[in-house]
Amino acid sequence: MAQKSAREYHPETRLVHAGTLRSQFNETSEALFLTQGYVYDSAEQCEARFSGKEPGYVYSRYSNPTVTMFEQRMAALEGAEAARGTASGMAAVSTALMGQVRSGDHVVAAKALFGSCRWIIEDWMRRFGVESTLVDGADLDQWRKAMRKTTKVCFLESPTNPTLDVVDIAAVAEIAHSVGARLVVDNVFATPLYQSPLKLGADCVVYSATKHIDGQGRCLGGVILGSEKFIQDNVHQLLRQTGPSISPFNAWVLLKGLETLGVRVARQTETAKIVADTLAGHPKLSRLIYPGRADHPQADIVRKQMRAGSTLCSIEIKGGKAATFRFLNALQLVRITNNLGDAKSLITHPATTTHQRLTPEQRAELGIGDGLVRFSAGLEHPDDVVADLTTALERV
Ligand SMILES: *Cc1c(COP(=O)(O)O)cnc(C)c1O
Repeated sequence: MAQKSAREYHPETRLVHAGTLRSQFNETSEALFLTQGYVYDSAEQCEARFSGKEPGYVYSRYSNPTVTMFEQRMAALEGAEAARGTASGMAAVSTALMGQVRSGDHVVAAKALFGSCRWIIEDWMRRFGVESTLVDGADLDQWRKAMRKTTKVCFLESPTNPTLDVVDIAAVAEIAHSVGARLVVDNVFATPLYQSPLKLGADCVVYSATKHIDGQGRCLGGVILGSEKFIQDNVHQLLRQTGPSISPFNAWVLLKGLETLGVRVARQTETAKIVADTLAGHPKLSRLIYPGRADHPQADIVRKQMRAGSTLCSIEIKGGKAATFRFLNALQLVRITNNLGDAKSLITHPATTTHQRLTPEQRAELGIGDGLVRFSAGLEHPDDVVADLTTALERV
């Protein structure tokens, strides 16, 4: 009887089994191959490995069995032909974007981007003669108008950080393809479980595995996914020759993190929804944004392209920075930090941290006021989290 391939199973099953390579010892849990290099049975074999005539490992900057397991599991989960692990989410973003452009090319990106992604597009690429246009991601007309003959790449995040706006991925993919450009989607906030950009028409998906995929705040990592051809043409050589490779140790931690991703993200999404529904209409708040609620500004797109809300919920506290800091300082369980997707519930004040570099005008344009905070649901009992947030709100 033919063996069922990993991709025929449900995502939760793929998270546990896909990509597992067993050594001669038949270990249950995936092995950590903490090795830089590999030895060969003969000089002939070594030659064949280097020429590519014989498949196999040659050096861990190129590939490593533990890294392969992580990549294969991610590819099976995403439904992608190929995946490459990277040292961090930013290594994934910078390689996926820079690998596609040459001097004279043009890039269009949604302006609500993770700070470092915006730096790559606005500062770094321009040093190499790659021009860029930033648009309001939700406004499809702006995407259409920004397209040029030289546009090679469109880039977006959805839901966005920290205002949890949602961009119509299928529509932007169509606009990009109409001029022969490709779409890259940073899918960190949705996780592979709740949104599949490749199925919506994107050409490449990138993750910071530092977030939900680790999920327990331990190591950095990233991954780039796409068709075999996309990876070969744009990513493969750049990664091998420039070396933002993921450590086998980190790949192993992330691989084991994937086993529990489904249960963690389901629980965190449930808690974030409870928090959103409890705080909605609270007299101390001027705004509450949760992609899983009917009052989300792009609720119709959420229904169309996401399988669930989010593990994050953003709220705006009345009374500006002073009131917001009083709220943050009154929290006892939810911790103040700039990370997300952790087992611990976390809260971030974007205006003074992740988005501090932007001018007040740029922040206003992105809807990041002094009262905005981003809440990332952890794995605690939802009642304890809600109680902590509501008690702190009373202190405002
Ligand atoms: C964190 C994050 C990144 C960068 O990932 P690192 O692992 O910190 O390098 C990129 N995009 C988004 C949306 C993120 O949240």
